[in-house]
Amino acid sequence: MIKITKFGGSSTADAGQFRKIKAIIESDPSRKFVVVSAAGKRYKEDNKVTDLLYLVDAHCQYHVDARPLLSDIRSRYVSIAHELGLSYPIADEFDDFAAHVSEFDTEYIVSRGEYFTARLMSEWLGLPFVDAAGTVLFHHDGTVNMEATRERVRAEAMRGDGFVMPGFYGTTPEGDIKLLSRGGGDVTGAIVASCIGADLYENWTDVSGFLTADPRIVDNPRSIRRITFDEMRELSYMGASVLQEEAIFPVRAANIPIRIKNTNHPEVHGTTIRETAEMGEDEPLVTGIAGRKDFMSFHVRKNHMADAIGYMRKVLGVFERYGVSIEHVPTSIDSFGVVVNEADVKDKLFSIMRAIEEETEPDELRVLDDLAMISVVGRNLSSAKGTAGKLFSALGEANINIRLLTQSAQEINITLGVEEEDFEEAIRVIYRTFVDD
Ligand code: ASP
Repeated sequence: MIKITKFGGSSTADAGQFRKIKAIIESDPSRKFVVVSAAGKRYKEDNKVTDLLYLVDAHCQYHVDARPLLSDIRSRYVSIAHELGLSYPIADEFDDFAAHVSEFDTEYIVSRGEYFTARLMSEWLGLPFVDAAGTVLFHHDGTVNMEATRERVRAEAMRGDGFVMPGFYGTTPEGDIKLLSRGGGDVTGAIVASCIGADLYENWTDVSGFLTADPRIVDNPRSIRRITFDEMRELSYMGASVLQEEAIFPVRAANIPIRIKNTNHPEVHGTTIRETAEMGEDEPLVTGIAGRKDFMSFHVRKNHMADAIGYMRKVLGVFERYGVSIEHVPTSIDSFGVVVNEADVKDKLFSIMRAIEEETEPDELRVLDDLAMISVVGRNLSSAKGTAGKLFSALGEANINIRLLTQSAQEINITLGVEEEDFEEAIRVIYRTFVDD
């Protein structure tokens, strides 16, 4: 059994967190490959080292003195090393970096957050340091060169008994440091897991996995024990995000499950994400509920639309031309809705309406705004009878008007639109009806 463990910034924030990581690694001999993020926030108002490094870079660009910031960052690393009794020459190496900082580009400066964290973690865990520079390799177009990276990662893995690698960056074909997108440590962990052919990719963070609903809306929502990749993508898209989205692809392609674990509560099972998940007896029919506000729906009616072949295409073509991404298209015989993000059409609303009027001659065109969309996700929804009915009556009893409803062909989710003012209550009602009944 090989597990890749990736620890996010909240898990590497200070010496106390480093101690927790060591206990986690030592409690399981299959945890030998470790990817780390730069030290993150120690408390709510604290700053992530990555953000401070972006700020250092901005100071350099505007020729403002960055020394106070650099000294803040330095003291975070030095205090971790000091508290843990590490001998790595972090102060000297940091001073050297600080002395030359104005000569470096943004990507190099920001990458030092994970670099220094990994250096200290390597000594602390007694595992060799493997730099992501020269190991995670990019193509010219900025995508990861998986083949070349696989070769390098495997060569490093063969060398010994595990390693610690900084996340979030790699090198271009020219040998320059290049960053992944924000939160990209998750992607590095997934790349390493895929290259090594791990049995499990453990992503350690400060929450115990995915929750069935947003805790700001539902009190103490249940956590999700098992979820499929598709379900997770649905929920993440609607706002319930724990993991960097791009991190899913390398492991999914290699059929490696991901487990989200909490560094502060390692005893909690967490959420396991895999291609298919058997339903446990105690698991609710609905895996999770997520939603977002600020949608808008264009309601288009064309009498005898069923006979007007190509009519919908023409209307949708207008949105395409204006570069607006379409979220949902609920349809009925003579009418349909085009649901979009309000922000995407804000400046072009009247142009789009005029284009639809002129080019497609609808019998009615209306815009519904202040729309919130809620996605009820569950891999077994399609086989359960009466789900939509139950949903309708629960919301009806609560006096919540469903303004539109769609169900994907794959039927792992039912998506409904409600008035924005009903959004929170609708989620609570759905939660009580399907998760906590
Ligand atoms: N440190 C980087 C960030 O804050 C990458 C990561 O944490 O995964 O975005």
